[in-house]
Amino acid sequence: MNVILLGPPGSGKGTQAKRLEERYGIRHLATGDMFRAVTASGSELGLRVKSIMDSGQLVPDDITIEMLAARIGEPDCRGGFILDGFPRTVPQAEALDAMLAQRHLGLNHVILIEVDDAALIDRLSGRFTCARCGASYHERYNRPRFEGVCDVCGSREFIHRLDDRPEAVAARFQVYRRQTEPILPSYRERGILRVVDGMAGIDEVTQQIEMILGPVSPA
Ligand code: ADP
Ligand code: ADP
Ligand code: ZN
Repeated sequence: MNVILLGPPGSGKGTQAKRLEERYGIRHLATGDMFRAVTASGSELGLRVKSIMDSGQLVPDDITIEMLAARIGEPDCRGGFILDGFPRTVPQAEALDAMLAQRHLGLNHVILIEVDDAALIDRLSGRFTCARCGASYHERYNRPRFEGVCDVCGSREFIHRLDDRPEAVAARFQVYRRQTEPILPSYRERGILRVVDGMAGIDEVTQQIEMILGPVSPA
């Protein structure tokens, strides 16, 4: 099963994708996490990507498409994947169709998580993430089970993303409206777009998505 999770910054894509990965055994592929790994390398490309990300703009399509195409070709993606943060532009959506067709793969569902702007701002301003695995938490809505320890990987180091500062958040909302929303009509026309109410609590949103994806198929 191949699924896209779509939604504005802070809508809960990463939080939900991590849960679905565990439940359905399909790979969570987050282009934001991949780019953060590139920036950590300190390479020339890394520095360039970091300045783009910190400002809230998008990394160029050619770099993004090449990175994602290489990733979905890896063996651990054979059982299916959840795309989180890709595609974000019309050319990326077209490139995804082409790469799936080339591999004789389909898109089962495109799930749009809808959240009000005020709630998004509240979520991003309180978000902190694990420095090692990228798992995302919230100061009020989603604290780690054991204080100061990542639920997923046990790390004790957390960061506040630079692009969650208000200046960058405003730019990211604008980028979402102008560059990402235009990919929705094509999925709607193909009848694969489903909308969930992302204003609900984390568990309820998971339930809504599981209703769409259906029961876990036996291994
Ligand atoms: P969020 O889920 O909060 O919107 P992400 O972690 O998905 O943030 O992305 C962080 C940043 O990484 C983006 O603002 C952008 O600079 C870069 N990025 C991630 N995915 C893409 C993509 N598909 N195309 C271009 N840039 C991307
Ligand atoms: P995205 O990947 O779409 O940018 P995240 O999954 O990182 O979003 O979630 C953004 C922030 O909101 C995080 O701090 C997360 O803990 C919190 N969050 C996610 N889903 C919900 C929800 N349904 N209700 C309240 N807070 C949430
Ligand atoms: Zn972690």
